[in-house]
Amino acid sequence: MGETVPKRNPKAPRQELPVLDLVRRATTCDEVSLGFNIEQAKAEVVRCLNCKDAKCINACPLRIDIKSFIYRLLVGDYDGAYEKIAEQSPFPGVCGRVCQHELFCEDACLLGTKLDPVAIGSLERFCADHNRESARPEAEYPQPTGPKVALVGSGPASLIAAFDLVRKNYRVSVFEALHGLGGVLAYGIPPFRLPRDILNEEIARLQRMGVEFITNVIVGKTVTLDELFNEEAFDAVFVGTGAGLPWLMGIPGENLIGVYTANEFLTRINLMHAHEFPKTDTPVRVGARTVVVGGGNSAMDAARWGKRMGSQTTILFRRGRAELKARLEEIEHAEEEGVIFEYLAAPVALYGDQDGFLREMECIRMKLGEPDSSGRPSPIPIPGSEYRIPVDTVVMAIGQGPNPTLQRATPQLIAKKGKIVIDEQGQTSIPMVFAGGDVVRGGSTVILAMRDGRAAAEAIDRALKGAQGATCEPDLDQAPANA
Ligand SMILES: Cc1cc2nc3c(=O)[nH]c(=O)nc-3n(C[C@H](O)[C@H](O)[C@H](O)COP(=O)(O)OP(=O)(O)OC[C@H]3O[C@@H](n4cnc5c(N)ncnc54)[C@H](O)[C@@H]3O)c2cc1C
Repeated sequence: MGETVPKRNPKAPRQELPVLDLVRRATTCDEVSLGFNIEQAKAEVVRCLNCKDAKCINACPLRIDIKSFIYRLLVGDYDGAYEKIAEQSPFPGVCGRVCQHELFCEDACLLGTKLDPVAIGSLERFCADHNRESARPEAEYPQPTGPKVALVGSGPASLIAAFDLVRKNYRVSVFEALHGLGGVLAYGIPPFRLPRDILNEEIARLQRMGVEFITNVIVGKTVTLDELFNEEAFDAVFVGTGAGLPWLMGIPGENLIGVYTANEFLTRINLMHAHEFPKTDTPVRVGARTVVVGGGNSAMDAARWGKRMGSQTTILFRRGRAELKARLEEIEHAEEEGVIFEYLAAPVALYGDQDGFLREMECIRMKLGEPDSSGRPSPIPIPGSEYRIPVDTVVMAIGQGPNPTLQRATPQLIAKKGKIVIDEQGQTSIPMVFAGGDVVRGGSTVILAMRDGRAAAEAIDRALKGAQGATCEPDLDQAPANA
């Protein structure tokens, strides 16, 4: 019997993601976006044009077969839709929530040239959530037996490399400096955007596939690259150490009590649960008035935490709203939640009291000029426009560079401005050491970090097959259908 295909209706309006009510948002860290229900998913999939040459697939850095998974949803085969995504990505729950779809697949959606593009991100999330809720039994995974690969850092770049390598039968160990796994997904992105059970479950699946995770190990300090090769007998290493070194503003008063980098502020809260202090060990000082400086995802995350912790919170951004770099959904949610946006202004100095506590911020008004190297209009200070505002907490969210520990401990590892240099194979200046993600790009996005991890896994596979002249492919007869 053939499948019943519901009638397509591209002109139907794009479904809006339901969100948590504002009262709950102000008082809890429950997830804000609630995801499509089944009726909304049905109403959204009929909008897909089922293009012959589906541009969305090529626009996805992981090459997820978006057209096919949407078709499976259309005919009501929800398990099949999930399997289609899982062929390419072990993280539909994570990516369905945090990937900047508007820059990739949704930007390429043909429907978007005339109407709103198909809500591909929300449909991806729907598949992940439906699969999770249906609790389908998972097949046993064959445990890997091939050569050993070490992955440094447990962010999205390493996690997808682990997924690809373990499926090719490599024995994979992930070394993570922190006590929690996931990189920025765990220490940077708040649980109200990415609930930790979703992240942890998708990582746990990698564990069941045979990936080993070792936390509290700083490669370059606890163990060196040399030791990984010579004492622990790894055949290749992937460095995915991310960009966790925050940039400072370089203005007077940065050392005052109450001034944080976004990295420290978010890690204290997301990873150490400082918002529950004194029930937890780690405090964070959030006073009555918080100013977050910057306009990217880190700035939105820090500001939304500031609001949740009861502070009147302002985002100070030196350009205009159109130049904000955060996901559109996060900007809108921050606005809804009452974060104040002060555009075209930048900090000049911070002032404290005699005990070293932050009290005031001096700002200067800006105007927009010609585009700079980022392609956005450059902010130009307006002389004489300085003004002061009272403030108790400042969070600097103006960007970050690569974590330098491993580079410093390994002089043979060539880096430029902290970013590890790789060749077109993804290999660094050290043979069999590959790198990707933010440590190569500087601050980027989850999905581009994943693309790098995937490319590096392919390069490692090629290099090791070449080196050993042997295949390390698993016995495919044993491979589970949903691996
Ligand atoms: C607050 C915030 C919010 C963001 N929100 C989004 C978003 O919504 N959507 C989006 O697409 N992108 C977002 N980004 C960007 C995105 O998270 C990053 O581009 C992505 O996580 C980079 O992945 P990665 O694997 O390269 O590194 P990371 O995620 O940074 O992971 C690197 C890991 O390596 C570990 N490590 C570092 N040095 C060592 C060492 N020497 N030994 C062992 N381990 C080490 C670190 O502890 C860390 O866990 C956000 C970034 C931030 C900071």
